[in-house]
Amino acid sequence: MKITSFQVRCVIVPMPEPLRTASGTVGVSPLVLLTINTDAGVQGHSILFSYGLAAQKPLAELMRNLESVAVGQPLAPADLSRRLHGHFRMLGTEGLVGMALAGIDMAVWDAFARAHELPLSTMLGSSPRPVQAYAGVSYEGALGSGQSAEKWARKGFKAVKAKIGYPTVAEDLAVVRAMRSAMGPDAAIMVDYNQSLGTSDAARRLRALEGEGLAWIEEPIVAHDHAGLVQLAAAITTPLQAGENWLGALGFRHAFDAGVRGLAMPDAMRCGGVTGWQQIAALGQLYGVALSNHFWPEVSAHLLCATPTAHWLEYMDWWNPILKEPLDVRDGMAYTSERPGSGVEFNEAAVQRYLV
Ligand SMILES: [Mg+2]
Repeated sequence: MKITSFQVRCVIVPMPEPLRTASGTVGVSPLVLLTINTDAGVQGHSILFSYGLAAQKPLAELMRNLESVAVGQPLAPADLSRRLHGHFRMLGTEGLVGMALAGIDMAVWDAFARAHELPLSTMLGSSPRPVQAYAGVSYEGALGSGQSAEKWARKGFKAVKAKIGYPTVAEDLAVVRAMRSAMGPDAAIMVDYNQSLGTSDAARRLRALEGEGLAWIEEPIVAHDHAGLVQLAAAITTPLQAGENWLGALGFRHAFDAGVRGLAMPDAMRCGGVTGWQQIAALGQLYGVALSNHFWPEVSAHLLCATPTAHWLEYMDWWNPILKEPLDVRDGMAYTSERPGSGVEFNEAAVQRYLV
């Protein structure tokens, strides 16, 4: 079976609710949708998220330019990944290049699993199983965060993660306590600073959160300050979480080599797609690091099934409108589709509606 063509489309999907963070509000998802066609009629799909509008069209253009490198190649994800990475040996595979390669990798793995009529998790040597999932609460103050947590609890979630990093540590604490009282003593509560603290401020703030029973504190400081993360981890008992901003398996190796342990969360688009994730899953097993995902809930649910140290699935519903079958989450557990592929298939009517 050989790859015959790419279809690359840009859509702008409105968020179900605007995402508020300490650094601004996001109302839409600019996405690049890739469909890979093969000579047997099997297709593969993937979604890339450019965060802002400025990078959406350049990313789509980059993927279109890579069509000629993939066309005519066998539908063999590992071989194609090596070929595509080899193509960029001089430029490197970070930034937009890495995102484009990850998008192709995810679509090729999706087609590969469909060609074998197996779910991706089975294709990776595992099998579909339920994965514990948490939902997100944005930067909405104590009252708003408590109400959002309650909304997720009503949908069956037993875990939520809030954006914090308010002007004062008292406000951070108020948010955590509002969510705790909404969710109950047994809920898992996580918080995410999105790299907003300086190292000395972080030590003070994280110590103030010590008594709250948090499941993790995410990215308190810049994600690439490995020494800072090691130092902070030694000063507290709450686990630290990081990884959504580490690029490729190499980014994880650098962090682990620097002594960063705790918890890690690869982002399928930044970590190199399915192929990159598999390398990180092996590192997670060797270093004894529990792995959760960042975004990409459909594909990540399959990947977590095949990850020896799988921890939590981050659920998000932002891209549900363009999916034929969004991830099934019930009673706080995510159930991967047992249909062939990675779980990504487009709702064509919705894609046409949001097409740019
Ligand atoms: Mg985060």
